[in-house]
Amino acid sequence: MTTYNDELSLYNASLFAVQDEALQRAFEQSPERGLPAISVKPEEGRFLQFLVRAIGARKAVEIGTLGGYSGIWIARGLLPGGKLITLEQEPRHADVAREHIELAGLSHLIEIRIGNAHQTLKRVAGVGPFDFVFIDADKPGYPAYFDWAMENTRPGGVIALHNAFRKGSVAGVIPPDQYTEGMDALNRKIAADQRLISVIFPAGDGTLVCAKLS
Ligand code: SAH
Ligand code: MG
Repeated sequence: MTTYNDELSLYNASLFAVQDEALQRAFEQSPERGLPAISVKPEEGRFLQFLVRAIGARKAVEIGTLGGYSGIWIARGLLPGGKLITLEQEPRHADVAREHIELAGLSHLIEIRIGNAHQTLKRVAGVGPFDFVFIDADKPGYPAYFDWAMENTRPGGVIALHNAFRKGSVAGVIPPDQYTEGMDALNRKIAADQRLISVIFPAGDGTLVCAKLS
């Protein structure tokens, strides 16, 4: 049995999630500039890019931009002519993200929409259906974001939800926090959903990925 740990994460990332300057800056400077250090890890970002490319996505939505790190990975997986709409509540986060996206040369591919995603998603629906939806914002919002994604993702599309492990608390690795129960309930609901084939990608804090059958 091999347990995925920091050494294997580093090995994996050093081979498969090599960062250019833009990704490195987005990863490191977001926390340095006062944003929370909660972006996905390099191999999680690479996995998002992989998924996007594997399904041939052109239209993607991200809920929770932060400093643009995961968004850069996603946008770099899109087919030519593709576009990512990313939703962020904090104007300050969006400003920082915009700089990183510019540095990555992706300003034409990524549109940041500022506001509470529970509101902004209503309009985004009009541009769908989407090939790929990545959910990584407020945890109490996840059930509503997931329902939105189910309605607005095409058959064969993928929905991904970050922090499925809730730092390990969903399996008792650490004590539960205020969001553990909600995350566990959503994981279980999705696991039982016959419209999906789903599994948790176990790097970082776990990304629950769901292939939508119909
Ligand atoms: N996906 C990013 C990390 C996102 S962190 C990455 O991996 O690089 C979560 C982000 O969601 C934060 O920037 C936070 O401000 C934003 N957020 C939280 N609640 C939100 C809401 N209701 N609507 C839109 N954005 C929200
Ligand atoms: Mg997250």
